[in-house]
Amino acid sequence: MARDPRYDILFEPVRIGPVTAPNRFYQVPHCNGMGFLRPRMLAAMRGVKAEGGWGVVCTEYCSIHPSTDDLPQPYASMWNQADIKTHAMMTEKVHEFGALAGVELWAGGAGAANLMTREVALGVASMPNLKGSPLQTRAMDRKDIRNLRRWHKAAALRARDAGFDIVYVYATHFYLLSQFLSPQHNQRTDEYGGSLENRVRLVRELIEETKDAVGDKCAVAVRMSADDGTGTPEQPVSSDRREMFEMLAELPDLWDVNIHNYEHEMGVSRFVPEGSLEKTMQYVKSVTSKPVVSVGRFTSPDTMVSQIRRGIMDFIGAARPSIADPFLPRKIDEGRVDEIRECIGCNICYTGDSLSVPIRCTQNPTMGEEWRRGWHPERIEPKSNDDTVLVIGAGPAGLEATRALGQRGYQVMLAEASTVLGGRVSEECQLPGLAEWGRVRDYRVHLIQTMPNVDVFLDNHLNAADALSIGAEHIVVATGSKWRADGYGRYHKKPCLDLGPAEQVFTPNDFFMGRVPQGKTLVFDDDHYYMASVLAEALVEQGVEVCFVTPENMVSAWGIMTDEQYQTQQRLIQLGVEIITAHGLDEFDGSKARLSCVYTAKTYEIEADAIVLVTARTPEDGLYKEIAGEIKTQASGSDPAPTLNKIGDCDAPAIIAAAVYAGHRYARELGTDMAQSDVVRQDKLFDPD
Ligand code: ADP
Ligand code: SF4
Repeated sequence: MARDPRYDILFEPVRIGPVTAPNRFYQVPHCNGMGFLRPRMLAAMRGVKAEGGWGVVCTEYCSIHPSTDDLPQPYASMWNQADIKTHAMMTEKVHEFGALAGVELWAGGAGAANLMTREVALGVASMPNLKGSPLQTRAMDRKDIRNLRRWHKAAALRARDAGFDIVYVYATHFYLLSQFLSPQHNQRTDEYGGSLENRVRLVRELIEETKDAVGDKCAVAVRMSADDGTGTPEQPVSSDRREMFEMLAELPDLWDVNIHNYEHEMGVSRFVPEGSLEKTMQYVKSVTSKPVVSVGRFTSPDTMVSQIRRGIMDFIGAARPSIADPFLPRKIDEGRVDEIRECIGCNICYTGDSLSVPIRCTQNPTMGEEWRRGWHPERIEPKSNDDTVLVIGAGPAGLEATRALGQRGYQVMLAEASTVLGGRVSEECQLPGLAEWGRVRDYRVHLIQTMPNVDVFLDNHLNAADALSIGAEHIVVATGSKWRADGYGRYHKKPCLDLGPAEQVFTPNDFFMGRVPQGKTLVFDDDHYYMASVLAEALVEQGVEVCFVTPENMVSAWGIMTDEQYQTQQRLIQLGVEIITAHGLDEFDGSKARLSCVYTAKTYEIEADAIVLVTARTPEDGLYKEIAGEIKTQASGSDPAPTLNKIGDCDAPAIIAAAVYAGHRYARELGTDMAQSDVVRQDKLFDPD
């Protein structure tokens, strides 16, 4: 299909200094848990983005020198010849599709602990490490500053040799250069501290020196925050930040603008809507004639066009939307806007960085698997025969299996017990702040509806006899899981059968079925991700008084991995929820709950009319077992038995991303040799390929 002319503006080439981007789609630097440790995975992943139409594709933060290392977070590095070689793998892939490659040169300052190189970290001052390591930086003296400038220039030259088109001076995100800019952190009394001019000096020098070194071939970009965190919601830009931009306005070839508050900049959709940086960064274009890029979890082409037309930015920057759909630009270009796999703002992608493991994405199961498993986000092997497949259960696992099997050309029947598609996603997206999660369902349902080879049967609760009578050659069970009502979890290592009168004990599934507790309700969170806190919020919305109890030391502790823990706890405090941390729930008699301290075992009682248990889930694998039993019984019959598999939560309850991945993997591997293989490629730095 042809592109909607309304979106033509997004496909205009834009000049950036000595280079020209083919369009306005700009994948800003983003972490991915691969870095210098997994260069082939990285190159393939970035290459797919370029193939998908992103006009600029950048690296993640890239260390300029061993004096700044961030392990265990796998950053990129530009330290030596070997780095040039590995980065060239990426730039070649990106250039193959006509895109520009950008590199974000980085010095960590007090944001990096140098746990690998064991070099003393260099900082604007002698200040404590910002990630909590028990160490302080050495206050940089003039020689250190001269060295830093030399290292930065050498790294820029290596970047040029590696084939990069855009070289960054990275002056935000709490790292070294932002510490020099900051009136709070920078209390120096030399020419690099104090006045605005002095605080900006180092960044100015680095821009000029980078331009001198590589400016004939490469554009020089500066990434800087539009505010310094001292403003108010009404007036986010205060202090001298605007003057800072004005001073440097015409020096770089491109401004990559973000905001001081990282949790907001890359906030989860539960707390932060699309386009939320605008209020803070909108002035930047008025102070410079250079192109400006910024982000905002943009997935709607209309919003993108509006950002450009209203003069907010020149490039549509994206990390997450490019992860969820590397082919987003191509889909807009080809008039396939309805096929965009929209980011849901869950930040599971960010857990790759938090946990130092390769990136994964809830919406895009191929993310991070481009090299390792050879998966492409848009292409998939056609079916290998004319078999039919019965998929039972239309949650994220069943829907993704159906969609991908349908794409392969298989005849697919999808049976769903309830009257709606989406399984847990359809339930959870009704909870406060989680509406965007419904996109996991919507993207898949939309495509399934266009496939003549897929039939969907709603309101069809199958038993084993039903499933087998259909006569499909393959049956895949995706019947999900249910939250347990017996307290079993990390705290209670055995089920507690006497955890209170059944009519006063609730689980998230009760809530989804409209069974809501009355009176003072104790939410016991032994799950530690979003479910308990979001349920607490939903209960407060319904006028229920909530006390939140967790054996962890904070609310939703795993939310640190998705960078939403702080906002989650803040939200519950603001809602007036009583929070009791470091305590387990031992007993409940219908009017009182007995809690015990996880450190001292000291117990005490609180009043409660109901408890909500968010502890663990039971796989709903009864149907799978029943069908397996039937197949075994009929084994001697003349008809060949169908293959039988279980996927998603009914196999092993986990996050939605895992269910989507399981569905995708099943579909991809059906009828192939991979179905028998448990071997995936390991990307090790010195592996011969
Ligand atoms: P997952 O996350 O693994 O995809 P969900 O719990 O989201 O799992 O979805 C499971 C789906 O399976 C639900 O929509 C549920 O209604 C459906 N289901 C459960 N048992 C049956 C059954 N016997 N026949 C058809 N559908 C079923
Ligand atoms: Fe978006 Fe979630 Fe995918 Fe990240 S993991 S890109 S937030 S859908």
